[in-house]
Amino acid sequence: MAEPKENVLMEKIVSLCKRRGFIYQSSEIYGGINGFWDYGPLGAELKRNVKDLWWREMTRLRDDVVGLEATIIMAPAIWKASGHVDTFSDPMCDCLLTKKRFRADQIESQSGIAYFYEGVTDEGSVLHKIPYSVLIPAGKPPESARKTAAQFYELRGIKVKSLEGERSEKVDGTTRYNPENGSLLSEPRPFNLMLQTYVGPIQSEENIAYLRPETAQAIFAQFKNVLETSRQKIPFGIAQVGKAFRNEVTPRNFTFRSREFEQMELEFFIKPDEAIEAITGSVNTADVADHPGEPQPNWGWKMWHQYWVAERVRFYEGIGLSRQTLGFHVQTPEELAHYARATVDILFKFPFSKKDEQGNVAGDELEGIAARGDFDLSQHERFSGKPMGVFDEELRTAWNKLDDAKKAELSKRYYEARLKYLLKCNVPQAKAEKDAKEDADGLAKGQYIPHVIEPSAGVDRLILALIANAYNELNDIDDKGAPRSRVIMRFHPRVAPIKVGVFPLLKNKPELVAKAQAIYAELRQHMMVFYDDAGAIGRRYARMDEAGTPFGVTVDFETFEGVKEGPLAGEKDTVTIRYRGNTDEENGMQERVKISELLAMLQQKVG
Ligand code: ATP
Repeated sequence: MAEPKENVLMEKIVSLCKRRGFIYQSSEIYGGINGFWDYGPLGAELKRNVKDLWWREMTRLRDDVVGLEATIIMAPAIWKASGHVDTFSDPMCDCLLTKKRFRADQIESQSGIAYFYEGVTDEGSVLHKIPYSVLIPAGKPPESARKTAAQFYELRGIKVKSLEGERSEKVDGTTRYNPENGSLLSEPRPFNLMLQTYVGPIQSEENIAYLRPETAQAIFAQFKNVLETSRQKIPFGIAQVGKAFRNEVTPRNFTFRSREFEQMELEFFIKPDEAIEAITGSVNTADVADHPGEPQPNWGWKMWHQYWVAERVRFYEGIGLSRQTLGFHVQTPEELAHYARATVDILFKFPFSKKDEQGNVAGDELEGIAARGDFDLSQHERFSGKPMGVFDEELRTAWNKLDDAKKAELSKRYYEARLKYLLKCNVPQAKAEKDAKEDADGLAKGQYIPHVIEPSAGVDRLILALIANAYNELNDIDDKGAPRSRVIMRFHPRVAPIKVGVFPLLKNKPELVAKAQAIYAELRQHMMVFYDDAGAIGRRYARMDEAGTPFGVTVDFETFEGVKEGPLAGEKDTVTIRYRGNTDEENGMQERVKISELLAMLQQKVG
């Protein structure tokens, strides 16, 4: 099968999502609302499965992570402390001709001939000095630039007699023009992405509140409560799944960049490296090629960071995203936020992901895993005035056994790190030195502000990745021998919205129907099951293939009369289990199974 073209494939995926009830446009009957999406019956199941799996792996199966479910609207001071009020913005610019809005950093660089105009003279011979310019491809006649310029002036109510001061210049790699029509764009200006509302009946400045742009900040704000009530000790993590809102300038690529979306975030709190060194004598900072294995007491932030990247990749592989479909982006020092020590983005190769010059696809971000130092808790300590530090008995005991030189060395390092942070936050030099000294003295008594590793994933991006990854077209022959092309969604059984379809071979045979319904009633207590008795069995199988259902159970005459041949020959109370399979060859493979063994077998397969 030839690979469908990128945008064609995306169109097919979007249309399948609507046709089969994975994803619909929000408010569709009113023309939709840009950047908002609803999940239909299959999409809702898929999403629930993904969130449940994440929650299970990140909290229930771990001793060192607990959960949190915080509100979407929180005290606005939280967003001041986190930096979102002042700096959570994207550069935005508008087309001066059509008013279309762009994210300035996402405009593709263009080359061509730029035509500049100083202004225009109107039909009354009045000169309007309004500079403007247009970019056209090299070789295109200047008339097209003049036409665009005239439109620009006419939109401003000027009846154009002549364009003034035309001059042209060859330009390379510019992002100042609308790639769609060549018109000049406005200067980029910052646009805060937080959605605002008012809390209470009065719509005044002091009642402004924000819909959270990430779930993480609630975790920091509740850190002390969780620490005190969960009996966890550093290192440990707090996980949260929930909605986040960003007023994205240009929502695009289906659900990839939405204005309302869900995140699955973990804040994993660790000891600062100076504390690790005091306790274990040295810090393991090795660069490992693969999974670093079970956490060790001598792991510093670097090992923990690598560990979480590896754990998250393991998670993605475990739900069917193979290594080949993923990519990595290690943020460069220029890209890193000023407080971050390292960030690795896990990418997925979406159908819309760009190819580089060699034709390689890097992918687009599914999840970012950031080593954020002690920035977040320190900010909340400064802004709330409430201590965010912890007392670590193990550190205090270890510290007392260190020789003076080691104590001095570790104190100095900790002091310098704290001073750097305080100065970055514009704390005056003298106060910063005093506070950093207090922090270093605190370390010697077993106190510190925990550092954090943050794996932050988007549910909706993952759902889109799973759908794109599952999408397959199979060309085969239908019941009547005619060639057909159909869609098979090859979801991993762990995430598949429907785990099993149950079918009586014929609808008009009461004993087949009764048995199939009994199986359906039992299985549905344990997993999502779909009962279908409508139409030819082949059509029912095809419907399940398109929904991505990995298993189909058919009750037929052999269920009552006994199996004709094979290992279960003569056995009654058996069914046919049909596999959707992971390859075209596997699609439709069948096996006979005892009804008494069906549940256990399916449970084992759907994990
Ligand atoms: P991007 O650079 O793509 O805007 P980001 O780096 O701002 O993403 P983070 O702030 O790190 O994203 O958010 C963590 C995760 O939340 C992302 O990896 C992504 O999966 C998800 N996410 C962020 N913004 C959106 C959005 N507008 N729509 C859907 N998911 C999003």
